[in-house]
Amino acid sequence: MSSIKKALVVGGGIGGLSASIALRKAGIEVDLAELQPKFDVYGVGIIQPSNALRALDALGLADQCMEHGSPYGPVKMCSSSGFQFGQAGTPPMGRLPVHNGISRRILHEILHQGALTNGVQPRMGLTVKALENGPDSATVTFSDGSTGQYDLVVGSDGVYSSVRSLVMGDYKPKYTGQSVWRYAFPRPADLDTGYIHFGKKTKVGLIPMTANTMYMFVVSAEGNDPKIPESELVPRMKALLAEYEAPMIRAVIDQITDPKGVIYRPLETLLLPAPWYKNRVLLIGDAVHATIPQLGQGAGLAIEDAVVLGELLGTDDLLPTVLEKFMTRRYDRCNLVVDASNTLGEWEQLDWQGKLPEGANMGALMGKTLGAMGAPI
Ligand SMILES: Cc1cc2nc3c(=O)[nH]c(=O)nc-3n(C[C@H](O)[C@H](O)[C@H](O)COP(=O)(O)OP(=O)(O)OC[C@H]3O[C@@H](n4cnc5c(N)ncnc54)[C@H](O)[C@@H]3O)c2cc1C
Repeated sequence: MSSIKKALVVGGGIGGLSASIALRKAGIEVDLAELQPKFDVYGVGIIQPSNALRALDALGLADQCMEHGSPYGPVKMCSSSGFQFGQAGTPPMGRLPVHNGISRRILHEILHQGALTNGVQPRMGLTVKALENGPDSATVTFSDGSTGQYDLVVGSDGVYSSVRSLVMGDYKPKYTGQSVWRYAFPRPADLDTGYIHFGKKTKVGLIPMTANTMYMFVVSAEGNDPKIPESELVPRMKALLAEYEAPMIRAVIDQITDPKGVIYRPLETLLLPAPWYKNRVLLIGDAVHATIPQLGQGAGLAIEDAVVLGELLGTDDLLPTVLEKFMTRRYDRCNLVVDASNTLGEWEQLDWQGKLPEGANMGALMGKTLGAMGAPI
């Protein structure tokens, strides 16, 4: 039985909703505070590799994700003309496929419903204003003036985490020089799996989301100034695709017409040194290990954090032991992904400048890192 009774989860994103479910399953009372007055998840998809599905399975949600998403095998690695030269993916795990593509909105709805079913009603439009973090409990003052006393506070409030600032001090994510442009399309009949095409200055992914939809991502280098005015989103995304002859890419370029449909994000990275806890506060997900999406692992790692925390809190261990064991099980794995993803991003940019160092083998690094994700968590 858990040594703690009541927890606060701050942030109702992928990590926070997963943590709420995992903690409830460990018999802990959970409050969840979400800053947004109502959930507003953008309308493209997300790659769920097999290890993310394994973690969702532990929460009882993998089947729903596969039912409402699109399971697929290894990603086909192709040239800009569509010639396939390799494939990549995490190891298949039992009945779970190598990948599942899913709409972010649908994933969020599945996690939100999972939280509600487990008795967690997110408190919307609420954040933590002050936190007294003692050795035996944390006292929280919320933005609406209310207060609460908790055995544990889980900070899952993303890459610009306020809980991190309150407890750990001043850490900022670093822009890597790359950005991602995404757009959703009807799914073409010949999209039999995920595809990544490598061009001279960009790479382009086509990822199944449902039986009838897919999304495209384009990774580009945006120098020191990653801001793009809305009026330029459509023409610039289309211009990045001009060099691609692959038929599946050419077939959809003209469908990119709505600037609001272009989901553009500069890629930022952050890895906090261990430990990710102090007294009664633990940080998880992007708040401590925000990885660029070169390996499609960020959300999977956040869900794994939640599952491991729930599992450890379900034992008789006292909280300090739980938190120590959490770090032992999570730090090296998350560090591996953040580090390898940053290296891949750097190599891509050097490759686009014609300066890829000798011995830099992107396929080998991807294969090794994704292979390691098959290890138990
Ligand atoms: C371009 C791009 C593509 C990606 N693609 C993939 C992919 O294909 N596969 C994959 O696994 N990962 C992917 N990721 C990474 C993935 O999106 C993140 O790792 C994941 O969303 C992290 O979840 P989180 O819950 O830690 O943070 P978030 O998803 O950022 O959630 C944080 C939540 O906290 C709330 N919040 C913020 N501040 C406060 C506050 N002060 N108080 C209360 N609540 C607050 C926010 O509103 C939000 O709901 C991608 C990331 C990017 C940028």
